[in-house]
Amino acid sequence: MIRKMKPYYIPLFIISAVAISNLCSCHSRDISSVSTEDTSYIVQEAMENTETDSSIDGELSLAGQISSLSSNKDGMPYSSSSSSDTGTDTSNNTSSTIAVTVNSMEDTAAYNSDIEKTSASPSTEETASTEETAPTVQHDGYITGNDVKVRSTPDFESDNILTSLYKGDVIGCVSETDGWTMIIYNGQPAYIYSKYVSDEPLLKESEPPHYEHDYDSGTKVGLSSSWIYAENSVINSGYATYYRAGENRKKITVCVNAGHGTSGVDGRKTLCHPDGTPKVTGGTTSEGATKAIAVSYGMEFDDGTPESKVTLAMAKILKAKLLDAGYDVLMIRETDDVQLDNVARTVIANNCSDCHIALHWDSTSKDKGAFYMSVPSVRSYRNMEPVASHFKEHERLGESLISGLKDEGVKIFSGGSMEMDLTQTSYSTVPSIDIELGDSASSHSESTLNQLGDGLLKGIDIFFRQ
Ligand SMILES: [Zn+2]
Repeated sequence: MIRKMKPYYIPLFIISAVAISNLCSCHSRDISSVSTEDTSYIVQEAMENTETDSSIDGELSLAGQISSLSSNKDGMPYSSSSSSDTGTDTSNNTSSTIAVTVNSMEDTAAYNSDIEKTSASPSTEETASTEETAPTVQHDGYITGNDVKVRSTPDFESDNILTSLYKGDVIGCVSETDGWTMIIYNGQPAYIYSKYVSDEPLLKESEPPHYEHDYDSGTKVGLSSSWIYAENSVINSGYATYYRAGENRKKITVCVNAGHGTSGVDGRKTLCHPDGTPKVTGGTTSEGATKAIAVSYGMEFDDGTPESKVTLAMAKILKAKLLDAGYDVLMIRETDDVQLDNVARTVIANNCSDCHIALHWDSTSKDKGAFYMSVPSVRSYRNMEPVASHFKEHERLGESLISGLKDEGVKIFSGGSMEMDLTQTSYSTVPSIDIELGDSASSHSESTLNQLGDGLLKGIDIFFRQ
């Protein structure tokens, strides 16, 4: 189930004199700051980085992350916890009151026997009649404890456990009866003790993965063809720029992706999912499509300002705040045009940052407030790699950003999220979110962008527990 990933190393795209001369005029401001001397320095640095990054330490850090996430069981709609979840269970463990802890072998056996048992158990009639009335999800619920059991019947039997959920997991609640919340699991009604279900979103306990980068400020980072999924990109002659924080450096790199802003796309498309499967929700690209426009143009604000101008202004404000706070920043775009499609942007973020935040405004005209694009709760999508191994972290990042924005008094749309199958999410192997900071009717004044920047910074602090 876990896709084998390549060893962790970071070859840099070298900006050669030839490459620079080939760049379009839109990059002239950048190019003037890169002298021949600068270029040779970057080459040298890149070689050093390649040596460092292919070290055993680097391989181990990624291997550790993969193994901690590889406890997913095939066919489960929710992946199992990472090892750090398990590690932090002791202090907050709520499982003792509701179930005995079983090892994964027993879990699997229990799961298998549940499938057989469900069809033969007295609850079959109940199940069938429930199916007739087609139980539907009424609202989201959030798991408040770790190792909370999902059961085939609403009681504490030891042989009715289907799977475990963890703090912050999102469930779709159908109904609540006698202290048990009904959900739909693998197409069947299943039950969770309601004491461990909250209506309020919760932050998860697991630590985000952490990669350390040590480039100098101004280092240009382009797409390396050796990176996983790089071959799915069709526009990738541009580069992102790395900025290093000063004295109070946290050694955490935030990728700031100013949405849109790629010229000459000319109808070129990329696969929605790395495995070629179709999109599970409709958005800019319709449900069922296997390919999406490589980078869309974006919307226009009611005053005629293109979204790409505002996302760029927002990115620059956020960059300054992040650097001040001690975060390193990987800027995907710093001018009106960068020749990097959504796949290239995502793959660069995957390999050179600790989280990826794409800045957008929605196309509606209601000033409805900010929200993040959450991972669709569609089984096939959440079981697809790399989504399966990472969607919990994407969700936690989204929830953190909304918390930070809310703290700063930013208007939040509905529950703060909307399910969307995005190219970004489909290719992300670091915590990654598309945040919609408002819509075409929202203010994009400097003071508003400043307020949004403060909220985003606060959310990033929450996510990294700073
Ligand atoms: Zn957008």
